[in-house]
Amino acid sequence: MTDVILPGATLGVMGGGQLARMFVHAAQAMGYSTAVLDADPSSPAGLVSHHLIQTGYVDEAGLAELAQVADAITTEFENVPAQALNTLAQTRPVAPAGAAVAICQDRALEKAHFLACAVACAPHALIETPAQLATVSDDLLPGILKTTRMGYDGKGQIRVKTRGELIAAWDELSRVSCVLEKMLPLAYEVSVIVARGRDGQVVHFPLQQNLHREGILAVTTVPAPSVSEAVSQQAYAWAQNIASSMDYVGVLCIEFFVLQDGSIVANEMAPRPHNSGHHTIDACDVSQFELQVRAMTGLPLVDPVLHSPCYMLNLLGDLWLPAGATQQQEPDWAAILALSGTHLHLYGKTQARVGRKMGHLTVTGETPQAAHAVALKAAAILGIEPF
Ligand code: ATP
Ligand code: MG
Repeated sequence: MTDVILPGATLGVMGGGQLARMFVHAAQAMGYSTAVLDADPSSPAGLVSHHLIQTGYVDEAGLAELAQVADAITTEFENVPAQALNTLAQTRPVAPAGAAVAICQDRALEKAHFLACAVACAPHALIETPAQLATVSDDLLPGILKTTRMGYDGKGQIRVKTRGELIAAWDELSRVSCVLEKMLPLAYEVSVIVARGRDGQVVHFPLQQNLHREGILAVTTVPAPSVSEAVSQQAYAWAQNIASSMDYVGVLCIEFFVLQDGSIVANEMAPRPHNSGHHTIDACDVSQFELQVRAMTGLPLVDPVLHSPCYMLNLLGDLWLPAGATQQQEPDWAAILALSGTHLHLYGKTQARVGRKMGHLTVTGETPQAAHAVALKAAAILGIEPF
């Protein structure tokens, strides 16, 4: 199972969203065939893959078919049941492994892993019982109550200032397992994407600075304008340690907070390519999706080089639904593409909804200032607030 899997083979991916679609594009460009497992008959990746296995993630026949058709398998989604990955791993190389994905699926396990790696994270407490709720320290307020599992894009979390609000928030989250995290004074948010090979080699992309709006990533800037060399080096060292100590294989993204005092703490991690790495397709010599292909097949990893400063803008469904419009309206792509340095990516989703990730736009330039100027022009055309 440790032989290199060369182009011509078939690579499988659990999940058919935009991350899988861009993975499929990268794999196909390198000469692989692809297989996507997703219940949706018109998923973004299913639309472009050689094979589509149209079942849920725990469907035994679907998993058997994927293991039969694919020579190696990865996932685009951290909430695929780890057991499904373990089942696939009985017959095929699976990267990342179910055990690593299981840690990333659970905020409590994730934070325990950070602490075990001597990586700082927000002070927090697990809340699974009324007794734990009653005895939680006042030091964690004001805080954010987050469900231990299944949170994304700011969903499954409630900000609380008082004990009364905390009790109401746990009720609102149906008293599922939660983590209460102390609210930290953020200066800005950054992320680091690493790839780790089967041989233990780790490479990383330059750190990204991320602007969130309404709990959803809005803009990623690289190089990160506000980050010191010392903070970047700390983040790279931590990310490498976090990946190595899970014996991780594949692409892994770690989100960090930089606090107002200049210190850095880990927030959470994603066991897959990440939205904050989409710029790597157009601004780096090797993309996060290509590194996923290389890591899972046992091909060599190389340290990626950022060849152009860039801004990545998420294109949310809101842009298709301007105020007063009675029906969905396509943004003016011709006007966007008339600007030099714009790279448009749309995910093949026909139905726009508020907050839905429909695509992204990467703007590259010769200098950060040049890229910023064009990104602002594109944002004005699209109706995105300036940044
Ligand atoms: P994602 O879409 O990245 O999966 P998520 O829903 O899993 O997001 P988090 O990343 O935990 O949620 O939190 C969402 C945002 O809320 C963060 O990007 C940050 O802006 C803010 N936030 C989260 N935790 C804290 C904290 N402890 N202190 C201050 N702000 C926080
Ligand atoms: Mg997050």
